[in-house]
Amino acid sequence: MATKKPNIGWLASKANMQTCYMHIKDWYVRFRTWQRTPMQYPLESQEVHHCVNCGHDFTGNYCPYCAQQAGVGRITWRSIWQGIMVLWGMESRSLLYSLVQLLGRPGYFIREYISGHRQVSYPPVSLLVIMGVVVNLIRWAFPSLAKEMVPATLGVELLDSAFLWMNEHIEWNMLLWSLMFVFPTWFMFRKAPAYPKHTLPEGFFIQVFMSIIGVLALLFSDRISMIISAFYRIEAYRQLFGYGWWGTLWRLTIVTICAFAFVLIVLIGIIIGDAVSDTI
Ligand SMILES: [Zn+2]
Repeated sequence: MATKKPNIGWLASKANMQTCYMHIKDWYVRFRTWQRTPMQYPLESQEVHHCVNCGHDFTGNYCPYCAQQAGVGRITWRSIWQGIMVLWGMESRSLLYSLVQLLGRPGYFIREYISGHRQVSYPPVSLLVIMGVVVNLIRWAFPSLAKEMVPATLGVELLDSAFLWMNEHIEWNMLLWSLMFVFPTWFMFRKAPAYPKHTLPEGFFIQVFMSIIGVLALLFSDRISMIISAFYRIEAYRQLFGYGWWGTLWRLTIVTICAFAFVLIVLIGIIIGDAVSDTI
C-alpha cells in the first residue's frame, strides 16, 4: 500500500498539470483570436435622438447636421470630466483603449491604423507626447528609474547640447531614433505578404507607434527595457507584415544594423566636421 501512495500523487499532479496546460492553451487560443480580430463597431441602433444643439431628429451616434454627440443633455459631473479631457483630445477615442490595443496586438493594430482605420486609435503623435509626459513624471517621482538615454558628453559642443536636450525630451529622442528605421524598413519589408508596398509616410506612423512602446519601456531598467523594445519590435513587425518569426528576424536585424550605421555616420560626420572647423 505504501508504494501506491506516491503513485497516486504522481498521477494526480500529472492530471493537474494537464488541466493547467489545457487552461493555458485555452487562454492562449482566445488571446490569439482577440489579437487577430479587427475592431468592430456595434450595429447602429434605429433609436431616434433629438439633437439638443440644432433641434434635428436623427438616428446614429452623432447629429449629421451639427456633429453633436447623441445623448448630450444637461451638464452633469461627467460633463466636467469630459470638458477637461477635450483639452487632451481625449473626448472620442479612448487613450487607454489605444494603449491596450497597441500593447496587446501591436502589429495588427498598427496595420489597421495605417490601412485607413484612423478611428481605431487615439492620434499617435499626441499619444507619444502624452506618454512622454507621463513617463517623465513617473521617472521624476521615482528618481531611481531615470537614466540618461544618451551619453552626456562627447566633448563636441553641438552634440553635447543635443544630447542634453534629448535626455530631457525622451519622446522626441525616441522618435528620432525610430525614424532611422523608416527607410530600411520600407526597403526590407516592401514585399511583405500581409501589407505589401507600404509607403514612407505610413512607415513614419509605424515608427511613431514603436516610439510609444519604446518610451513606456523606459520605465524599466536598461536591460529589461531593451528586451521589451526588441521583443515588441519583432512581434509588431511579424503581425504587421505577415512574415514568420525567422523571416521577420533576419530582415529586422538588417534594418537595425542600417539604423545604427546611419546614426554612427551622422555622429562621425559631426565630430570630424567639428575637428576640421577647430583646426581652421
Ligand atoms: Zn444637431
